[in-house]
Amino acid sequence: MNAEQPEEHEPAKLVELQPLDLEQPPPRHLPVPENPPLHCLQCGYNLTGLVSRRCPECGTHFKVRSLPRPATIEEQDRTAIHSDRIAFRGGILLLIVGTVAPMVFLDGSGGSSVSLRFLMVGCSAIILTTACIYKGFFQRTWPEAMLLAGLGSATLAALLIF
Ligand SMILES: [Zn+2]
Repeated sequence: MNAEQPEEHEPAKLVELQPLDLEQPPPRHLPVPENPPLHCLQCGYNLTGLVSRRCPECGTHFKVRSLPRPATIEEQDRTAIHSDRIAFRGGILLLIVGTVAPMVFLDGSGGSSVSLRFLMVGCSAIILTTACIYKGFFQRTWPEAMLLAGLGSATLAALLIF
């Protein structure tokens, strides 16, 4: 009986040693998932793996479901590729429209449609070359250079037509 008594008292001692300053123990949840990384809305602390729903850095309560989910790397890549494609195609389209539009709108009014065509194709070639030089010189991407060329061509066309 003497040997059993301390064993019975040990669990009671463990309960007494729990921190007294906490009024109620924080409710435990599943750890905050790792992917996508979630951050505190107040201080930006990375909340990955936390089992409580209170930011350890600033003490703000949070709900995992209400935290904004940043785009995953694959989603960011997909968006970047998509916008690059739009920029590249849009640039080519603007370049073509900018070259052809003055020929269509100004044809007949000037009376020298052949020289106008030469002028427009020449201007577009100069714009395209400038965009290529810009790309190489400033180490820009093709979509950016194409979009710039397209915008330049469209601006020139607008200036000629209006
Ligand atoms: Zn915080």
